[in-house]
Amino acid sequence: MKKRFISLLAAAVMLSACGNTAPAETTASVSDTTTTTVAETEITYARIEYEIDPSKPMVALTFDDGPNTTTTVQVLDKLELYNVPASFFLIGNNINDSSAEVVKRAYEMGCEIDNHSKSHPYMNQMSAEEIVEEVMYVSDKVEEITGEPTKFFRPPYIATNADMYANIDMPFICGVGCNDWDSKVTVQERIDNTLNQVKDGTIILLHDAQGNSKTVEALDTIIPTLLDEGYQFVTVAELFEAKGIEINPDDTGLYTIVQGVQ
Ligand SMILES: [Zn+2]
Repeated sequence: MKKRFISLLAAAVMLSACGNTAPAETTASVSDTTTTTVAETEITYARIEYEIDPSKPMVALTFDDGPNTTTTVQVLDKLELYNVPASFFLIGNNINDSSAEVVKRAYEMGCEIDNHSKSHPYMNQMSAEEIVEEVMYVSDKVEEITGEPTKFFRPPYIATNADMYANIDMPFICGVGCNDWDSKVTVQERIDNTLNQVKDGTIILLHDAQGNSKTVEALDTIIPTLLDEGYQFVTVAELFEAKGIEINPDDTGLYTIVQGVQ
């Protein structure tokens, strides 16, 4: 329904631009969105609605190596289907006019947009200037799209050093992974390795790299299983907040499981 609505809206906008408003109004009337009119060119996306109970267990789904207009879209469709948020750690070089629209959709759905460097290098082998350039490129691009700079950083290859901590003003995020960047890892292995590692406060590290369809498929088991087990899905920032951890630019940790302050 959503895709159909968007294409109809685009058609309606095109028609009204030609000065032919009568068919546009007719076309728009089939939509079930009452607040949108044919005069608006802005596409609106469904927002994921949820409430967080800090006393109950929670996990943060995170995806690296996007954005793109294929796999990232399929991941967003799954999040929308199950009404759960996620956090996307973007590679700056993957942001272009088309993929920026996907980032905008993720943000408007309530997902968090985070930083995975511009070019995915081993940043522990870079100068301070190069390190700053890698992260600021992404943060600036994201701010252009969403109006907000990035809040968290995931080091490429989880390679870190003191220069990176000194020059990157965001907490560093790792997470429990299932090697889902490797196409030889089966859907079932992705499911089992993820679910076996999850406990309260876990950051789940997956990849929405172009073509990673096995992870998209794995989400159909991972998300419902964790929901059945009573886990809430939250963004990384919400996980920090719920666990009482301040988002500190000078933080020198590397977070995989975020536990409450004792
Ligand atoms: Zn990566």
